[in-house]
Amino acid sequence: MTDRVFHLKKSFSLNYSAFRKGTPPPLRLQFYPYRGLSHTLRVREGVVHLRISDVLTSAPLEVLEAVLGILVYRLFCRKAPSELLQLYSTYIRQPDVQQQLWELRRQRARKFLTGSRGHTYDLAKIFDEVNRKHFGSSVQVSCLSWSRRGSRTVLGHYDDAQGAIVINRLLDRPGVPPIVIEYVLFHEMLHSLMGEKVQNGRRCVHHKSFRDAERRFPGRLGALRLARLCLAQAGARFTL
Ligand SMILES: [Zn+2]
Repeated sequence: MTDRVFHLKKSFSLNYSAFRKGTPPPLRLQFYPYRGLSHTLRVREGVVHLRISDVLTSAPLEVLEAVLGILVYRLFCRKAPSELLQLYSTYIRQPDVQQQLWELRRQRARKFLTGSRGHTYDLAKIFDEVNRKHFGSSVQVSCLSWSRRGSRTVLGHYDDAQGAIVINRLLDRPGVPPIVIEYVLFHEMLHSLMGEKVQNGRRCVHHKSFRDAERRFPGRLGALRLARLCLAQAGARFTL
């Protein structure tokens, strides 16, 4: 066992014992090739499985301990102490870490795409219409695709690492009105144009000027309601 794994296992026991009495369950640690910066802690059959994004493989031990600490707090539905969150976010904001993450997302995201032509809707066709109607055909993206898997939580997203708009495939059904696809595309196209901003000291993608621009979409609230309904019918929760 390497020193780092040994320390992390010890750190896990300490963190765990702060919430629950008795011997902590065994921990299995893995650096995992997630698409982005994800880390998970799951309990299965009495074993705790910790998966840390492989972007952090060479991160300092204290950063890995912070990730572990945050996940244990989350496991017990508690808010992690701000010093742990601060330590982690300071590390991941470093330019070389951001660069590495960017490259990784670019390499790994492709396999999650299926192309723009779905069973019911062709995204390329609707994209062109929305682009002409609302943006004077000024939006350019390098990739437009339905997601490979249906998402329970996301309608669509814009991936700036690869300039791709990806729409939740659960919306590629005859029961989904075209205005829903138009609105979700419009939203993601705005992301591609506006990027993120710092608002109240935090990085924000749905900043004030984004929200102002989004209101230009006619019937936005109705489309949003319909989008919620469509995902609810597909058994999903909703975020955009
Ligand atoms: Zn958004």
